[in-house]
Amino acid sequence: MEKCFREFKIESLEGWNVDTYYDLYTKVFHRYGFLLGLWQAEMHPYGTMIHIQHEKGKLVGSETMAPCPPHLHKAMRKKLMFTVELNEENIVESFCHMGPNRLSHKCNIFPEDNNKNRVCFRCCVEAAHRNPGGMRREFEQFMMDESWEIEEAIFTGKIELLQKFRVLKKFEACFDLNRIILPVDEPDAVIKPGLYKADYAMFGYELILVFYTDNKNKIIGKKVTGDPRVPAGQIAFEGKMDEPIFLLGEHQESLANVEERGHDPIPEGIHYKLLPEQDFFLPHDCSYEGKIPSSCSFRFHAMMNISPANVNTAFFLPSHLIVFNRKSFALLAFQAETLFTFLPIVVLLNTKTSLFFKDYNFNYWLQRLRISPHKADVARLEIILKYGGIYFDYDEIALRSFDPLLNHSVVLGQETVGCSLDNGPIQTFTVASTFGVYRTNIF
Ligand SMILES: [Zn+2]
Repeated sequence: MEKCFREFKIESLEGWNVDTYYDLYTKVFHRYGFLLGLWQAEMHPYGTMIHIQHEKGKLVGSETMAPCPPHLHKAMRKKLMFTVELNEENIVESFCHMGPNRLSHKCNIFPEDNNKNRVCFRCCVEAAHRNPGGMRREFEQFMMDESWEIEEAIFTGKIELLQKFRVLKKFEACFDLNRIILPVDEPDAVIKPGLYKADYAMFGYELILVFYTDNKNKIIGKKVTGDPRVPAGQIAFEGKMDEPIFLLGEHQESLANVEERGHDPIPEGIHYKLLPEQDFFLPHDCSYEGKIPSSCSFRFHAMMNISPANVNTAFFLPSHLIVFNRKSFALLAFQAETLFTFLPIVVLLNTKTSLFFKDYNFNYWLQRLRISPHKADVARLEIILKYGGIYFDYDEIALRSFDPLLNHSVVLGQETVGCSLDNGPIQTFTVASTFGVYRTNIF
């Protein structure tokens, strides 16, 4: 039971068709537990996101899509794709639920070449996906799924949607999945890393994974879903944190105006984080429909992978990354004459350890170490190496100011006379190489 709860947050056997947690673990989770989490389905150039969770005695894979235009702020849409469950004979089976009637039929889900970050989905009864009304009826259903305002979609987006429909048909019974590893949140990051939904105008809403480069001077947006011009898996934009911009309201009348004044130097020596909130105005020649804040926290130079107005090919074009707050931002692409807005997606995962430790060695040590204080020792080193800061045990009392210690990149206490280092009080303000060496040596 402990293993089922700790690794997969299983709190009850209800619905699983087993008598013991041992059975549940050995028959289902030992083999299929790795499926839990977020996956990107390869359907070039579009792709989709699949969220696999356990619920009511099954592993459930649901397509998780952005809302239909024009309501970016609305909740994500979910569509059941497949389940993995124990049958009456206590054997694990997987079922596809796609098709007009949502009737379950057999399918296979298996890791490709034993790589548990890459999975193959194969439906065994492709005929179950056919609509008795024929291809025309299937297209109508697809249009209704893709748009809130069906009338408008038929007249304005027909060509793009028809193209998408034709491509997705090819992948409905057979596609591969790549695991999406969510980046660790950085408390002081100007934009929270993670999944975002974005308004891509004529191609509808798309899903973007936002993360930082290791040296933290660039923020990257990578496409989880794509379109014919910028397919899934490609870089959507690159924000340059080391090239901040400070604009006044009167410099934002036109796109040309904004682009030119964006190169004005910001007050010398001021770190972008110390700049005050700045005005934001939509230039009169920039297309955007919807409400937009009148100020922003930060503005940076960026490159956006997008096609210029009236051109069919995408290029990396000069843009501005406009950060409204930690969870909302936009890209102003000059040659596309458009503002693209981004909003975060909240996904609740019921997988192993928390996301916080995803990038760390912690998972490895969590399994090897049996005593909780030892696990805590590893966790504090990993956390402080990643974030910097000061760590003290709960029972230590500060007698003097920390100020004299702040000039050093690493400070460790000495427990006894000799060479034993104490990891009780630790301070590190940068990811110091010496600290990395300390970690390497003791682990
Ligand atoms: Zn199927």
